[in-house]
Amino acid sequence: MTIKSNLVVYNTLTRKKEKFEALNPPFVGFYVCGPTVYSDVHLGNCRTFISFDLIYRYLLHLGYKVRYVRNITDAGHLEGDRDEGDDKFSKKARLEQLEPMEIVQSYTLGFHHVMRAFNTLPPNIEPTATGHICEQIEMAKEIIKNGYAYEVNGTVYFDVDKYTKTHHYGELTNRKLEDLLENTRELSGQDEKRGRLDFALWIKAKPEHLMKWLSPWGWGFPGWHLECSAMSTKYLGETFDIHGGGMDLQATHHTNEIAQSQASHHTAPAKYWLHTNMLTVNGVRMSKSAGNGFLPQELFTGNHSLLEKGYDPMVVRFFMMQTHYRSTLDFSNEALQAAERGFARLMNALKTLYKLKNGTHSSINVEKLIASFYTAMDDDFNSPILIANLFEAVRIINLIHDGKETINQTDLEKLQTTMKTFVNEVLGLFDQKENNNDGKALETAMSLIIEQRLEAKNRKDFATSDKIRDTLSSGGIIIKDTKEGTTWQLES
Ligand SMILES: [Zn+2]
Repeated sequence: MTIKSNLVVYNTLTRKKEKFEALNPPFVGFYVCGPTVYSDVHLGNCRTFISFDLIYRYLLHLGYKVRYVRNITDAGHLEGDRDEGDDKFSKKARLEQLEPMEIVQSYTLGFHHVMRAFNTLPPNIEPTATGHICEQIEMAKEIIKNGYAYEVNGTVYFDVDKYTKTHHYGELTNRKLEDLLENTRELSGQDEKRGRLDFALWIKAKPEHLMKWLSPWGWGFPGWHLECSAMSTKYLGETFDIHGGGMDLQATHHTNEIAQSQASHHTAPAKYWLHTNMLTVNGVRMSKSAGNGFLPQELFTGNHSLLEKGYDPMVVRFFMMQTHYRSTLDFSNEALQAAERGFARLMNALKTLYKLKNGTHSSINVEKLIASFYTAMDDDFNSPILIANLFEAVRIINLIHDGKETINQTDLEKLQTTMKTFVNEVLGLFDQKENNNDGKALETAMSLIIEQRLEAKNRKDFATSDKIRDTLSSGGIIIKDTKEGTTWQLES
């Protein structure tokens, strides 16, 4: 079965836009490198997962049957990308005096919570590294058998030198071997590995190491790169359609994933490689060390020195969608506030659209408008252009509302359905206030309480009216008496 679409995607591997042709339509195998769950997910990671959520949603909208796999790294991720330093989980576990799996559980729950707040769809499979140790050992064995890896003292290294004799190791980032070597430190007498670019598939565990498994090479744990190769092969096959991740993963993690697949089963893992760009704050790259990084929760509450106020997760999602996933995204108070106004305008226009009365004929070209939504998304998921075209629709909706343009019934229904589809289903944006039933229930309860308090005041029962005010206040609800009546708000 073929899917009719004009979708074009930018493939990092070929450095150009290519027509998207699924290997086995209507099925699409889609793998995204997930979070390392030893600390709170930061906003840069959120951007990556929100971008791939948009891509996933659009593929679904086009009619593809997507198997979306996003892993959880809960073992083997060392502090240095090149097998140096301590295991991130063990280190954190020692610091906090917890079991490593307690850390994993706590941050996995936190990650899911944030992903739900941003209204991302869950992947179909969310495999963990610790749940796939056997598959990783088998893959390492296969790579050794094929002559592309060697063992030294309980650690297994991938032999990059041997690999480069038959393959282009730096093909994903289009870098020559000499350049890669130039950026790698010389080996010292202490090093076990033979080549400067060699990386560990399996690492021997020191006696004090907390997370370790028995392998043919003794007690140890898998290298970080191996898990994605083992899990993507298991769930999507030796070659699948799309592999995604943040652009910081290209040079090492993804380059090594390709090498591992080629060395174990002689095929490239993915047809299309998609990478998301990074976040900056006021023009400076967001990072923990620069002190300009904030967590999603801080962005929602506004509890951060760089933020003037908090923002609804939907506003943040809208804000992110206003920039193409391959461009850098700059956070600033002004940009967030502009996004908040834009988001409100879009949501209001959607409401207006459902109140419009149709005429007998259309003075506007609805087909052309709808086609422009598809053209934008078909061009490598260009959400900023889609949003610009949606705002053209907003302008038209307001003109119809003001009686300056007319629309017939068929066109009105078509516009309603398509706008709703692109805003709610493709962009994944909802008016939280409208959908939040808690908000409605609270509103109802509060108007009743305010009425009761007013009645108490009218009969000069100030003890009761004060008690209502104080009880609400202790629960975080502040009420104010104004000339126009009593208003209430949640304590911020
Ligand atoms: Zn990965």
